[in-house]
Amino acid sequence: MQLNKQQHCPRCKIPLKGYVDECPGCGMDKPLPLPWYFYAIMLAILIASAWIFIDLEAIARALLSAREGIRQL
Ligand SMILES: [Zn+2]
Repeated sequence: MQLNKQQHCPRCKIPLKGYVDECPGCGMDKPLPLPWYFYAIMLAILIASAWIFIDLEAIARALLSAREGIRQL
């Protein structure tokens, strides 16, 4: 892992502070690969949205079946 290691632009070798869209020295687009936590956050959002979707569907189904039960009374 290179978490505490100072990273440098692969083209002009100036030190970079973490992830940057553009190198401040030579203007290279995305000089560093995306940090590992970017993928972790994306995965967390994906799992969270999947959970919400499943929960909402279950609630909607429960509400619909409850409404139909009332209608039949
Ligand atoms: Zn550079």
